[in-house]
Amino acid sequence: MGAATEAPMSAADAAKAAYELRKAKAIERANRPHITDQPITMKNWWRHLNLLNIYLIVIIPILGLWAAWYTPLHKYTLIWAVLYYFNTGMGITAGYHRLWAHTSYSATWPLKLYLALVGGGAVEGSIRWWSRDHRAHHRYTDTDKDPYSVRKGLLYSHIGWMVMKQNPKRIGRTDISDLNEDAIVVWQHKYYLWVVAFMGLVFPSAVAGLLWNDWKGGFVYAGILRIFFVQQATFCVNSLAHWLGEQPFDDRNSPRDHVITALVTLGEGYHNFHHEFPSDYRNAIEWHQYDPTKWCIWTWKQLGLAYDLKEFRSNEIEKGRVQQLQKKIDRKRATLDWGVPLENLPVMEFEEFQAECEKGRALTLIAGVVHDVTDFIKDHPGGKAMIKSGIGKDATAIFNGGVYLHSNAAHNLLSNFRVAVVRGGCEVEIWKQSAKENKDAVPAVDSNGVRIVRAGEQLTKVVEPLVAAPAS
Ligand SMILES: [Zn+2]
Ligand SMILES: [Zn+2]
Repeated sequence: MGAATEAPMSAADAAKAAYELRKAKAIERANRPHITDQPITMKNWWRHLNLLNIYLIVIIPILGLWAAWYTPLHKYTLIWAVLYYFNTGMGITAGYHRLWAHTSYSATWPLKLYLALVGGGAVEGSIRWWSRDHRAHHRYTDTDKDPYSVRKGLLYSHIGWMVMKQNPKRIGRTDISDLNEDAIVVWQHKYYLWVVAFMGLVFPSAVAGLLWNDWKGGFVYAGILRIFFVQQATFCVNSLAHWLGEQPFDDRNSPRDHVITALVTLGEGYHNFHHEFPSDYRNAIEWHQYDPTKWCIWTWKQLGLAYDLKEFRSNEIEKGRVQQLQKKIDRKRATLDWGVPLENLPVMEFEEFQAECEKGRALTLIAGVVHDVTDFIKDHPGGKAMIKSGIGKDATAIFNGGVYLHSNAAHNLLSNFRVAVVRGGCEVEIWKQSAKENKDAVPAVDSNGVRIVRAGEQLTKVVEPLVAAPAS
């Protein structure tokens, strides 16, 4: 036999060969593109799924619903399930989110321990993992590095990002060194599975079992179904809060404020505010808005359990609000016709102006600007005769109180009829002169660079009517 004649491989050689093989495989694995970089096909779709998460957030709740069908709901168990829902939800909102992810306040260790435990009972990952992703979400909102970007779809931001595998290399980097130094965070991360099993299922079942002998009800309602509701509520912060509502502080990104989201998420629904002022311990700043998480933190402060509650000065908050309002106004202003800008109008000699009128064009001169009112005569609210009396003349004084002090709306309307400026026209010249002398004074323009025309500041508005001063 040929093989028998070959020298047997020494043990050292065999070990070396095995090592080389393992190394080659490891290199091959490292170079293989991540599954998320491959398009989903009929053949590989199941490899895109995160089976553990599907089990935790989809299969178990379905089994829980099925079990609930066969499990009578005890009155006390219902009360306990709701109570425990609020506690575990608070573990996420006041603990994971506002304390650890954003350090919007400081907590004494008993409060931290409580939050780490009930937060674990919500079954949403460890504080460390959750906060890292959340900091990436704030830093890279709406981009590819945002782990739950709403730009990938509402369903993706709600649950898809957990059901589908994610490429860990693609999630934005964030600093969590402070969390690595927090003993309770480190402890919770290390013993996370124990914390989840105990706080998620054992403890809620034991309370109902030991106190009113409803072990099964405690397990199904205060355990499994309560976990499901807390999870779905928290997921709404990533989906609903980036999709539904108003943007009173900034509309550059997707976060929004809405009372419905707030009701569902223990007050995390004022998300536009939150993304602008993330280290503020509040999400709702008005007293009438629903933010039980804020109320809890405030109460803990009164009890000496929480301290250093961070708040942005209302001056800063209002600055953001005013700027956003301004943006909206500018956008609205840009859709309106404010008349041809003065600098774009042709210059007309006064004689030319008169000649045009003689030819039958209904031109009137107000504050140095020529207006063509031919088509407007029949619509003039003050009657045809009145408007005709101003044709071919400088009607500045007549328009500004000499005959009738025209309304703000009239000045606005008039701007649509401007066709030229007259050389040497009084107001226009004054305006040009002052613009020249006052080089530094920038005319008020909006964010689109369009000059802002405020009420009472129209070009045709002359405060002191140009009428002859009465003899003194
Ligand atoms: Zn967000
Ligand atoms: Zn946040």
